[in-house]
Amino acid sequence: MFMSPDHTHACGRFAPSPTGPLHAGSLLTALGSWLFARHSGGQWRVRIEDLDPPREVPGAARMQLDTLAAFGLHPDGEVVYQSSRHALYQAALERLLATGQAFECHCSRRALAATGGIHRGCVTTQRRPDPAIRLRVPDGCMIVFEDAVHGRIAQRIDQHVGDFVLRRSDGLWAYQLAVVVDDAAQGITQVVRGADLLDSTPRQILLQQALGLPTPAYAHLPLVLDANGRKLSKSDAAHPVETHAPLRALARLWQWLGQPPLALAGMRTPQDFLRAAREAFQPARVPRWLPASACAPHNTNAITPA
Ligand code: GLU
Repeated sequence: MFMSPDHTHACGRFAPSPTGPLHAGSLLTALGSWLFARHSGGQWRVRIEDLDPPREVPGAARMQLDTLAAFGLHPDGEVVYQSSRHALYQAALERLLATGQAFECHCSRRALAATGGIHRGCVTTQRRPDPAIRLRVPDGCMIVFEDAVHGRIAQRIDQHVGDFVLRRSDGLWAYQLAVVVDDAAQGITQVVRGADLLDSTPRQILLQQALGLPTPAYAHLPLVLDANGRKLSKSDAAHPVETHAPLRALARLWQWLGQPPLALAGMRTPQDFLRAAREAFQPARVPRWLPASACAPHNTNAITPA
């Protein structure tokens, strides 16, 4: 079973950025994270990741929550908004600075161009009024973890990423820091999200270790692609989920999660579907990729059955 490493009570989450309406891919992640959590008898939380005002679309968070509700996906507890949690991120940053694990960096993007943007020590002598703060990544730093869908993943963070940003020079918090602080503060034991974030997970585990926080279990779900093979993006708002036929849409998402069909006869509401689905869910069947037939635009628009 997909439990937290220390077998405490399971708690999952869905953490959309409010950059546009949910699309089929984000709803797949919402349903997948709900299923993993509920299947292991755990709670499911929703966190709005609104830390990047320039990318935010007014009203998007409300719209996303309404869409979840239309599909019967109701979070446990209050919805958390990252924009109200700056003090937590600041406290974590100060701990890392105090222990020398984080440092002020005055390098510009241009100065790092020669190393492909990878920071392994400051290359500029000019001081900026607005330095970024980076995590110091030790030489040879390798993080290995077991993903419930993708198996064993290993990354040399020093080579692949370098010292990474925790607070940007424009003062905005980096996603990596905020997500680690919030997952721990909210007692999240399982992180289930899109495979586009697989590459971020080693950084998050390193940060958890640096802050002395527990590492949750991870499962990265297949991405839904558009007709051109690109990941759907909430911010281009091209494929909003339609909510007029939630049962059929849930059945389609369920199929994308590699699950054998559920008998829909007699089901009238999304709750009916979800009740059956939480029992029947088989985490080991979740695929790494969706078949090409799941990528046609008619499927991603309304998630209608084939
Ligand atoms: N906020 C991210 C997104 O909307 C997800 C972050 C996460 O699940 O860790 O893509």
